[in-house]
Amino acid sequence: MNHDLPRKPADSLSDEEKATYQWQMWTPGFGEEGQRRLKNSTVLISRCGGLGSVVAYELAAAGVGRLIIAHAGNVKHSDLNRQLLMTHQWLGKPRIETIERRLKDLNPRLEIVGLDANLDDELAEKWVPQADVCVGAAPMFEERFAMNDACVRHRKPHVNCAMFDTEATISTFSGGGQPCLRCLTPEIPEFWKREFPVFGATSGTVACMGAMETIKLLAGFGKTLEQRILRFDLREMTFNEFSIRNIPHCNICAE
Ligand SMILES: [Zn+2]
Repeated sequence: MNHDLPRKPADSLSDEEKATYQWQMWTPGFGEEGQRRLKNSTVLISRCGGLGSVVAYELAAAGVGRLIIAHAGNVKHSDLNRQLLMTHQWLGKPRIETIERRLKDLNPRLEIVGLDANLDDELAEKWVPQADVCVGAAPMFEERFAMNDACVRHRKPHVNCAMFDTEATISTFSGGGQPCLRCLTPEIPEFWKREFPVFGATSGTVACMGAMETIKLLAGFGKTLEQRILRFDLREMTFNEFSIRNIPHCNICAE
C-alpha cells in the first residue's frame, strides 16, 4: 500500500483512444481537450460496492487515467445483487482483486491503485492529496467524514453519493470555503445502521450521477451540484433539490 504517485505530464490521445472515446468527445463543451483531461486525472473512490462499483466502472469506461480505490473484505453472496464488479466465481476472495480485474477487462489502459482497506483518517490523509476528485460511496459515516475532512484540508472537490431503500442523495462539495458534508450532517445520525434495503438499480442510478459529476469536474464543463443537494425517491419517481449553506460553527470548514 505504499505506492506514491508521480504526477503525469499532459499526454495526448493515441489513435486507439480517439476511436474508443469518439462518441463522448462529440459532447458539446467536452471534446478532445476534455478527454485529455480525463486521461491525465486521478480519482479516489471510497468503497466500491453497490455505489462505488458503478462509479468506478463508468469512470473506467470514460477513460479516466487512474483510480485509487479503497474497499476491504471478501466477496459475499449478499454483495451480488448490486456490487457489479463482484462475481460469483470470486466468492470468498478479496473484493479488491475482482474490482481491479474487471475494470482492467473493460479498460486495460487504466491505472489502478487498489487498497484492501476502507478509508480512515490516516488513509485519507495519504491518498486524498494525490487525487484530483474524490468520490464518497461508503455506507459508514466514519469513512465519509474521513474523506470530507481530508478534502477540506487539501481543498479537493468531493462528490458524495448516498442511498437508503429507494431513496438517494447526491451533492458536490468544491472545497475552498464552500459548504462541506459536515455542514449538512455534522454528526453520525443515531438512526443509521450498517445494513439497509437496497436494489442495485437504486445505488446504480445515483452512482451514474456521481460519475457524471466527477467527469464534469475533471473536464471543466457543465454545472455541478455545488452548494446543492439532489434527493430522489425511485419508489414514487420524485426528484427534489435543496441548497446547502455553510454552518458558521462547522468544526471542519469554518475558517
Ligand atoms: Zn462544513
